[in-house]
Amino acid sequence: MTDGGNITPEKKIQSEAQPTGTPSGCDSCEGTDFIREAIIEDLKSGRFDHVHTRFPPEPNGYLHIGHAKSICLNFGIAQEFGGKCNLRFDDTNPTKEDTEYVEAIKEDIRWLGFDWEDRCYYASDYFEQLYQWAEELIKKGKAYVCDLSPDEIREYRGTLTEPGRESPYRNRSVEENLDLFRRMRAGEFPEGSRTLRAKIDMAHPNVLMRDPVMYRIIHAPHHRTGNKWCIYPTYDWAHGQSDSIEGITHSICTLEFEVHRPLYEWFIKELGIYAPRQIEFARLNLTYTVMSKRRLLQLVQEGYVRGWDDPRMPTIRGLRRRGYTPEAIRDFCQRIGVSKYDGVVDIALLEHCIREDLNKRAPRVMAVLRPIKLVIDNYPDGQTEYLEAVNNPEDPSMGTRQVPFSKVLYIEEDDFREVPPPKYYRLSPGREVRLRWGYFVKCTGVVKDPQTGRILEVHCTYDPATKGGNAPDGRKVKATIHWVSAAHCVEAEVRLYDYLFTKPDPDDVPEGMDWRANINPNSLEVIPNAKIEPSVQGAPAGTRYQFERLGYFCVDPDSTPEKLVFNRTVTLKDEWAKIQKKLENQQTAGAA
Ligand code: ATP
Ligand code: MG
Repeated sequence: MTDGGNITPEKKIQSEAQPTGTPSGCDSCEGTDFIREAIIEDLKSGRFDHVHTRFPPEPNGYLHIGHAKSICLNFGIAQEFGGKCNLRFDDTNPTKEDTEYVEAIKEDIRWLGFDWEDRCYYASDYFEQLYQWAEELIKKGKAYVCDLSPDEIREYRGTLTEPGRESPYRNRSVEENLDLFRRMRAGEFPEGSRTLRAKIDMAHPNVLMRDPVMYRIIHAPHHRTGNKWCIYPTYDWAHGQSDSIEGITHSICTLEFEVHRPLYEWFIKELGIYAPRQIEFARLNLTYTVMSKRRLLQLVQEGYVRGWDDPRMPTIRGLRRRGYTPEAIRDFCQRIGVSKYDGVVDIALLEHCIREDLNKRAPRVMAVLRPIKLVIDNYPDGQTEYLEAVNNPEDPSMGTRQVPFSKVLYIEEDDFREVPPPKYYRLSPGREVRLRWGYFVKCTGVVKDPQTGRILEVHCTYDPATKGGNAPDGRKVKATIHWVSAAHCVEAEVRLYDYLFTKPDPDDVPEGMDWRANINPNSLEVIPNAKIEPSVQGAPAGTRYQFERLGYFCVDPDSTPEKLVFNRTVTLKDEWAKIQKKLENQQTAGAA
């Protein structure tokens, strides 16, 4: 009898992430990671006297577990330091963004357990201010209108090893630039015909400093500003100033923005406005998973999954539908910590976190996925008795329930072997096992289909003296199996999931193929008629259980009053605990 994944080294892992030393400015985070250390340093040195962070999603897709890392970090740090965290939509690209995503993102953040209070902002709120600042830079001779096409701009930019060339429009007068820029805003020019560029240095070793584009002409309505604008700021022009406007102290972002930092600092300095501190950390990558929004969109659009909330998706809504709890996701984000170097986290750790959480709170029930009939020949026909079953051995306060027992049961096909292989201790002819919460039963034989030879029924006798699971004469059995009463059980559809990809690194493909070649064709297995004990009847979507010996399961919203649908959240087999154990053994061996 496996009772759940509670053989874990989590104490050790957690204690490694626990704070040490004397807190300063934060009650629980000194020494935890380089970001928190940097913040503590800033508070000590007086660079900042409070902490204000933000989570800045672009509303062009649904949030995934990587975003959860950033959310936990930004909102978590604000909480720990008694500061604030804003939600800010970086909505500078009207053609890809949508209010549908805005609402979904808000819902997902709330579900994760975080609150931006009254501070939900949009980069588009700052379009007018950004425009005014752009004029300011033009007047200072630090920005110019350029007529090169996007292709030409790329061509002029040079490479990592060669300097760029100056645009022929670079030395327009302030008056001409102002006039053209205002006419760009007024909609006088076709899309893509002109840009506003910062005038920095075409020979700068950092390519991003070679006169980056600040505005492009896009004749498209925006989901918030409607038709008010036909020039839109680039992300690089909007992002740092948005942080500045909101008085963000620590602008925490992923590593790819490290090279953008000099540009952000240049803008802030030229404008002479408040300067946040940017700190970069490595994005989360997970084995057997893709995380880019573009790829997730492809999985949805090309029909590999059923939607953004498919339980196989690494999206917050996918994980939620699968049965993940916000607590487990937050725990995961805390355990992975933050680092300066790109790495890949084993998905087994994520699974470990949900197992840990559900082990504590999911009620246990019995369910049979691949049923075979077990007939107890010496049990009275038509009799039903109710056996007391413990709801959660980890939590006595969850009480007990009554499970109906009768002459004909279902057990797992797997729990019977006509010819048992070595070390197989479950039911086989002549062998006695315990029925969970019930009696000892001894197999007396099988009934087979005369044509196919397939086993239709397993027959047994029970020992009434063993009620509750122990024999008064002290005899032992080597296995306990689960069961449901055939006359009382409910039927349900059960969806079992495997990883979406067959390889830990989906990009590990032969030349000429792409990541889609690694999509697992068997990531979903549907069991149409599983048999489940009647206590689950009527459970609303989102209810989580442990099906004893089979894993944790969650009621899917596809359920109807007639038929429940369950998703398997995770099995009971804790791969992460195994990996940790192996590592520990290696370390002990190494130390010896
Ligand atoms: P794309 O997938 O197109 O690269 P994105 O992941 O950058 O987009 P955003 O909406 O811009 O999407 O992300 C919002 C915030 O979440 C950003 O601060 C970003 O750095 C952070 N973030 C995104 N992906 C991850 C990840 N895998 N790990 C940690 N943080 C992430
Ligand atoms: Mg981004």
